[in-house]
Amino acid sequence: MYLPTVVALAVVATIGYMVGRRTTGNVEIHADRARRELKRAKAVASQLEEIAERIRRNLATHEPSIAKFKDRVSAISGKEQDAVWRDVFQEAENMLKPTLELAEQISHAYEELRQQTNHLLTFTETRTDPLTGVSNRKALDEMLEASFSLLARHAEPFALAIFDIDNFKKVNDDQGHLFGDSVLESVALLLDEHTRETDLVARYGGEEFVVVMPQSELEDASTFAEKIRLGTSQASVVTISGGVAAANTQDTAQSLLARADAALYAAKAAGRNRVFCNTGLSIEPWQPSAEETPCEIDAEPDAPVAIS
Ligand code: GH3
Ligand code: MG
Ligand code: MG
Repeated sequence: MYLPTVVALAVVATIGYMVGRRTTGNVEIHADRARRELKRAKAVASQLEEIAERIRRNLATHEPSIAKFKDRVSAISGKEQDAVWRDVFQEAENMLKPTLELAEQISHAYEELRQQTNHLLTFTETRTDPLTGVSNRKALDEMLEASFSLLARHAEPFALAIFDIDNFKKVNDDQGHLFGDSVLESVALLLDEHTRETDLVARYGGEEFVVVMPQSELEDASTFAEKIRLGTSQASVVTISGGVAAANTQDTAQSLLARADAALYAAKAAGRNRVFCNTGLSIEPWQPSAEETPCEIDAEPDAPVAIS
């Protein structure tokens, strides 16, 4: 029969989509993968649409054929339908009714599923940077809003880091804009690979990225930022500088970003390829804490810069 094939198709499509989504939850996502995910989700949405449409068409052809069947039986049995024929009608109708109702419900269910998939797609697409596949400014703003309300209501700390690719203009000038684009993609991938599942990586501007780190204090976030800086310097053709700040209850998204930006500025001024953190009182270069296994740092620690 037609229906089971359709159901099987849809189940395969839905499971495929769900498995894909679950996988992205715990494995690092990068631009290519994010694009493939979106493409696959789009394919699922259109498959669902097609299935719902086919069921609807199927229903539309079933109903006239039932009416035709009735007419034919009426014609055979004459105007005076006897009790036997009426029973046959009734029985046929009783048998078909649940099937038709079920088909209609399935058709509605697929339509709803398709709409939800489309909402999900729109949600993801409007929050993703098209070049790198990481989050965009809109997603960052939403994440910061949510993080500030968690800080205010449940005293949940969070911190953020701004990373900026060093001398990126020169990369573009020397090797072309397309190469520059591929560098941006690779840095975004690296950030994604090194961050936790609960962190948010967003492209903040041309060659700037912000990582929001929930449940992190300044020290942890700075250590984390340093790992990312070091990883980039080892794996990429470019280096990055980072500025870190932890949120306090007086902060707004703007003031927090401004403090991290001031630390980033200090990192640039100190020679680039380093991480500075803004304690709120001063801007200091990242230094490993006593218990920490020291990371390899290729520059001498700089002196703290007082905030005027
Ligand atoms: P600094 O170390 O001080 O950050 O120097 P910089 O050269 O990285 O900074 P600057 O602000 O002078 O230049 C940033 C460059 O980033 C200039 C701009 O053309 C480039 N850029 C911005 N967005 C994109 C993009 O989407 N693709 C490419 N290829 N380049 C971009
Ligand atoms: Mg910049
Ligand atoms: Mg730069």
